[in-house]
Amino acid sequence: MRTFDEFESETCFLCGSAEDLCGEHKVKRSLIKAHALGDKTEFHSSMNARPLLAQSPKSKVFHFKSRICRTCNSSRTQPADLAFDEFHQRLHRFWSDVKTSALNEAPAHQVVEEVGGVPLDVFRYFAKLLCGLLADVGGPRPILIADFAMGLSDENHIKLKISDLRKRRVNLPLPVANSGGLRCWVDGDELLVRTFEGSLSAGFIDYDYWVRLKAHASRELATGFPAFTERCRRGGLYDSS
Ligand SMILES: [Zn+2]
Repeated sequence: MRTFDEFESETCFLCGSAEDLCGEHKVKRSLIKAHALGDKTEFHSSMNARPLLAQSPKSKVFHFKSRICRTCNSSRTQPADLAFDEFHQRLHRFWSDVKTSALNEAPAHQVVEEVGGVPLDVFRYFAKLLCGLLADVGGPRPILIADFAMGLSDENHIKLKISDLRKRRVNLPLPVANSGGLRCWVDGDELLVRTFEGSLSAGFIDYDYWVRLKAHASRELATGFPAFTERCRRGGLYDSS
């Protein structure tokens, strides 16, 4: 069974359809609205020396360059979009309130458990983002990740690390939103691509998400997509913003 499919630029980055394409948010408008102060919203990318300043939540800096079809955008991914929205707001509210409680010094995963853990649909949301980041840099379509993002399978390969940016030594004030682009990690004697990783922050919460490829998938990438693999080997880091 194949892990990757060729990605054509004028097709949906989830299902591969060429029909009825539309834009997709890299950072949800609801998140920006929830955390924005005033009209000008800041969007930081870890690869940009200077942050990109968006004039409004509709700005193109909050969108993927690649497109998605309307079916994927609506019925297939809306439950995951809503689940992430709901989860993020709940966690942000809860975490804001624990400042004075015993949970203040608790590790992030314990705080996340207190709000009921991470629903599967939230992982689906990050699976979609990862497909978009890969498409934006001309990478292949990861079939299993895309199927999971579309709700066609319950097989989750996405790992997620949630952290509180207030506990890191970061410059304040925090940006409204930060999407770090795609990072890929290469290892072993054969220099195989082993991990694709993305990050998203909104307010003081940072979401680091990644997929670790199995050995056969790394080999399939190396033989089926040699040019892309070579780019990963040379740079390891891509910015899609
Ligand atoms: Zn689609």
